[in-house]
Amino acid sequence: MFEKILIANRGEIALRVLRACKELGIKTVAVHSQVDRDLKHVRLADETVCIGPNPSPKSYLNIPAIISAMEITDSVAVHPGYGFLAENADFAEQVQKSGFVFIGPDPDVIRLMGDKVSAIAAMKRAGVPTVPGSDGPLPDDREACLATAKRIGYPVIIKAAAGGGGRGMRVVHTEAALVNSIQVTKSEAKGAFGDDTVYMEKFLTNPRHVEIQVMSDGQGNAIHLGDRDCSLQRRHQKVLEEAPAPGIPDDVRAAVQASCVKACVDIGYRGAGTFEFLYEDGHFYFIEMNTRIQVEHPVTEMVTGVDLIKEQISVCAGNKLSLRQEDIVIKGHSFECRVNAEDPKTFMPCPGKVNTFHCPGGLGVRVDSHIYGGYTVPPNYDSMIAKIITYGDTREIALNRMRNALDEVVIDGIRTNIPLQKDLVRDEAFRKGCVNIHYLEKKLGESH
Ligand code: ADP
Repeated sequence: MFEKILIANRGEIALRVLRACKELGIKTVAVHSQVDRDLKHVRLADETVCIGPNPSPKSYLNIPAIISAMEITDSVAVHPGYGFLAENADFAEQVQKSGFVFIGPDPDVIRLMGDKVSAIAAMKRAGVPTVPGSDGPLPDDREACLATAKRIGYPVIIKAAAGGGGRGMRVVHTEAALVNSIQVTKSEAKGAFGDDTVYMEKFLTNPRHVEIQVMSDGQGNAIHLGDRDCSLQRRHQKVLEEAPAPGIPDDVRAAVQASCVKACVDIGYRGAGTFEFLYEDGHFYFIEMNTRIQVEHPVTEMVTGVDLIKEQISVCAGNKLSLRQEDIVIKGHSFECRVNAEDPKTFMPCPGKVNTFHCPGGLGVRVDSHIYGGYTVPPNYDSMIAKIITYGDTREIALNRMRNALDEVVIDGIRTNIPLQKDLVRDEAFRKGCVNIHYLEKKLGESH
């Protein structure tokens, strides 16, 4: 096992990684920006290094500063968390070249999955179901594009190969709009990502977002840890997640899970990963793979009993997977509400000082959060300040526990989205299960 890990992240995920390291007997180094010196994990780490001023390009995205911090602290490996440098293949490569271990897959695998066109091609080869589409980049040939759209059937969606974060996509409903939409998406992609490669997919009208968690040791062993439903989204940002995804036939689920495991072995995947799918009318359609741990990983931990971070660290240290597929038994149900420091109506970020924080508790309640009474949420980073996770033998029990936990929690001093979450757990359609990805925006009257 590693002797010392540098945690190249902040907030709740840095604390989550620190806790796993402590359990494993691994020493920790917390790196932080100037404003973040009072973060909880910084207080708890064995060593700390201030890597720069508050703007993330100068601190959490500052590769030379992070590698220097590894050198001066004799760290052996770096855990990137999610966001920031977690899916940056150049960072992973520089870490390796400097003689350290990146806790994640090889840079080549990050690159393969980071380009959506090459990712889809790799998935097809492995037998993972994909969205009917252009099978590669769109050529500079108007007639060919029109023919592809005709074959797929309108509406179609034009997507940037290098896109991410819900940007670089455009839906096209009619043949008349196609050629112009391709041009606009190309020039936007060039501006935003420096790459104007675009491809075309069938636009699914009312899908759910269902994803499969995997773990793989890069030595030919891979498993899945079931699925999650993350359909409640606003502007492509997940708001409330659950595991397992409700209402999916066993045979359909088993087939897609098996295909993800095979894909991991085929691409030589190492670490924790997520295959994201759209699910519509009983079919799964791959959209992308996240080559890192995800925000919503706790719901999977609750229903499998597996510590995903510890296992991720272990396999990246060169150990074989400690679990076989038959060891993974999905039991009960779990929900996660993301608590953001934002106005519950306008969704504007709402940083500031937390005067009081009363954490909810009780059987089946877990809170992953770095905040405490007196902590000031800085304006520089993501607004997520806590994740409330509940567990129960049934979906209803877990959901009722979430309702109670949300009623109990007190965060005073800043505005949060808790009123929205309270409303959601009481929403009749959501309580029944299986709402689609447009449900939340429609409910908020924001759909277009
Ligand atoms: P990003 O990497 O930017 O998150 P994704 O490929 O994961 O891009 O797509 C983001 C979101 O866009 C999806 O969660 C879904 O809401 C929508 N989307 C993407 N592709 C399709 C499609 N073929 N049909 C319908 N919606 C889509």
